[in-house]
Amino acid sequence: MQLIDQFNRKIDYIRVSVTDRCDFRCVYCMSEKMTFLPRSTVLSLEEIERVIKVFTELGVKKVRITGGEPLVRKDIDKLFKSIGRIDALDEITLTTNGSQLKSKSMMLKKAGVKRINISLDSLNPITFKKLTRTGDLQKVLDGIHAAIDVGFDKIKLNTVLMKNLNEEEIYSLVDYAIKYYLDISFIEEMPLGHTAYDRKSTSVNNDDILLKLKEKYLLSKSNISTSGPAEYFSIKNTQTKIGLISPHSHNFCENCNRVRISCKGELFLCLGHDTKIDLMPLIRSFPNNDEPLKEAILNSMSIKPKSHNFDLADAQPAVVRFMSHTGG
Ligand code: SAM
Ligand code: SF4
Repeated sequence: MQLIDQFNRKIDYIRVSVTDRCDFRCVYCMSEKMTFLPRSTVLSLEEIERVIKVFTELGVKKVRITGGEPLVRKDIDKLFKSIGRIDALDEITLTTNGSQLKSKSMMLKKAGVKRINISLDSLNPITFKKLTRTGDLQKVLDGIHAAIDVGFDKIKLNTVLMKNLNEEEIYSLVDYAIKYYLDISFIEEMPLGHTAYDRKSTSVNNDDILLKLKEKYLLSKSNISTSGPAEYFSIKNTQTKIGLISPHSHNFCENCNRVRISCKGELFLCLGHDTKIDLMPLIRSFPNNDEPLKEAILNSMSIKPKSHNFDLADAQPAVVRFMSHTGG
């Protein structure tokens, strides 16, 4: 069985948010004072494993574990261990802020995680603190180096550049990636959730980033295709690729191959829309029967939106939920 949506796109990739909680409060992702979900409304680790298994029975081959900060979820090791045993999964990946990687890298490697994305917005401890509000740069750098030592196949840094904050660090971040044989992606800030500032005043366009990068590095367009939102460029004489994730300057929805499951069991069919199906009632009302869940997921393919429509000129965010709710 295979998930095909109304626009004939094959969905074989899911992103699963295992918690809305986080040890950071990045300014573009969360408000300073967050109220997190009561635990009873969040999928248990067993329920998450069950949902992932059901998706694999519908042809999904790849899962990314995300959040909130996935590695702060209690007993997260158990989840990685159990999904590491699902034969139908070709790939398990993770997006993390890196704060827990010093102690978790070996566990992840043993569970079969081969590639990880680590968010790193600044190499300056003061700017890092401004951006993450509660983050400690040194802890993240230690985490990155623990991950390098463990030897994942690929580590990619994710960076959101913001005007008057970390925009000027573009070269130092790329040089850091080159030095340690990492890839790095620049993500345009998306209007997800209300922020304490006007996103228009901070948003940086990836077309401008590309021009800046070309001033210092010899780039050639890479032909790797991930069906994902990034355009990739190789930097000559290095092992590093630069990805540009550009929801504003380039619409990447045509090849969308993914859906997202929130920690509350909501199946979000597009990051930029509220269109969703609530899987929790089906999970909890039919603990021993996956058929209703499967049917709901199959039916959801008829409502997956064609594309997002992010517009920073809009007074309201595209969707009112933060990225930490849906899962990045
Ligand atoms: N806590 C983990 C982390 O920071 O990597 C995983 C979850 S986080 C929501 C996933 C990614 O989403 C991070 O790279 C973060 O920078 C990005 N992100 C969060 N809010 C965003 C926004 N409004 N626009 C663009 N990227 C955003
Ligand atoms: Fe936490 Fe990641 Fe959101 Fe930052 S981007 S607040 S680390 S979930």
